[in-house]
Amino acid sequence: MASSQYVIEAPEQPSLAVAGQDDRFPVRRIYCVGRNYVAHVREMGGNEERDPPIFFQKPADAIVGDNATVPYATITENFHHEMELVVALKSGGYNISEARALDHVYGYGVGLDMTRRDIQGDGKPWEIAKSFDQSCPCGPLSPVEKVGHISSGRISLTVNGETRQDSDIDLLIWKVPEIIATLSTYFELKAGDIILTGTPHGVGPVQPGDVLVGRIDGLEPLTVKIGPRPA
Ligand code: MN
Repeated sequence: MASSQYVIEAPEQPSLAVAGQDDRFPVRRIYCVGRNYVAHVREMGGNEERDPPIFFQKPADAIVGDNATVPYATITENFHHEMELVVALKSGGYNISEARALDHVYGYGVGLDMTRRDIQGDGKPWEIAKSFDQSCPCGPLSPVEKVGHISSGRISLTVNGETRQDSDIDLLIWKVPEIIATLSTYFELKAGDIILTGTPHGVGPVQPGDVLVGRIDGLEPLTVKIGPRPA
């Protein structure tokens, strides 16, 4: 006998696979950092001043797993890939210090911040450009206890085997401890939160049928196929 019931069927808990085990990581919130590699800031027409990081969110159910087919997004003619390091939290809080920030990290993974580039614009909310359905493909997480903390290493993305993005995690303007510390001044971080840390240069369009493979040294790769636009 259940002590409480919902009046409609409860939504599914979004989650991510964990490398080497069956249990999954439940996703509470998806935070994203904008403009966090100098060469990407430049390609987007900005300058490389070390302004405070830009944060936005995607809904937790924007997650799609490894080997998924992501439909070409509606209402865009310029659907872009942004390859990013994903940080998954096992605990959180407000006003976390940089010195203690990594204590809250469960693990790391490879993710894509899929973007309707033609809808994104300065002075407009990024909701429709960034936070749409299936806009956050993520590969399996690798626990810190297995891979340690990720502060450098190659980050790359191929589309149909051709390298489109190729950089190093070491080039993050805001490093992972700074991201966690700053984000925790705005929001109470909690277990289950994931953070996409920003994309290096080389963002670009995808087309239906494209196969994207994202890699970060030491982590599980992510493979995604772009499907047709929904009817
Ligand atoms: Mn991004």
